[in-house]
Amino acid sequence: AGLSVASIYSAGGVGKSALVMRYGQNKFLDRYDPTIEEEYEVTVEYEGRRSVVSRGRSQTRAAHRDATRRIAKLNIIDTAGVEQFTGINENYIQRGVGFVLVFSLTQEASLRELDHIRQHIYRIKGGEQDIPIIVVGTKMDLTAEREVSSQTMQELAVKWGLPFYETSAKKGWHVSEVFNDLLLRMRKR
Ligand code: GDP
Ligand code: MG
Repeated sequence: AGLSVASIYSAGGVGKSALVMRYGQNKFLDRYDPTIEEEYEVTVEYEGRRSVVSRGRSQTRAAHRDATRRIAKLNIIDTAGVEQFTGINENYIQRGVGFVLVFSLTQEASLRELDHIRQHIYRIKGGEQDIPIIVVGTKMDLTAEREVSSQTMQELAVKWGLPFYETSAKKGWHVSEVFNDLLLRMRKR
């Protein structure tokens, strides 16, 4: 039991908040709310009924709770451009057990950016061994706007040696699979 920390990275607007909201509260907000951008964290109770039990700025929110429940703290971090993600507090990456790299299936550039973040994580962690990293494509429901094919994803999955998921927070497609897989991999470590 106890607390494990995962970080969720993508550029703004890709769908991190929507993904976590769908997982934790089974809700979708259509409205883009810039006031909840920057870094924040949610705490997810994932054994028994899953729910977001707290939410707040990373700097102010204290770790908590009784050891009988399994709690995952998710840091949700916007990365926009190389300058910003190399400035990501290395402590987050160092103490992070698992990572979710998020791109939009409707925005090929957002996938390319993930390669830099991926390599940044490996640099800080000192190697590629046994780090739970999951790659998530969002907005699967927007089929007419799609820029990244399943085949491209499969090829990258092989090249990077990482699991890829296609999701829709709007429709609720494959969202819980992402977090179930992540938490499973985190527990195995
Ligand atoms: P963040 O900046 O990475 O946290 O992105 P948000 O979660 O705020 O999402 C950005 C915008 O994309 C919002 O307007 C969301 O409603 C929208 N969005 C997020 N996920 C999906 C999805 O699965 N399908 C669709 N159609 N829109 C989505
Ligand atoms: Mg957000």
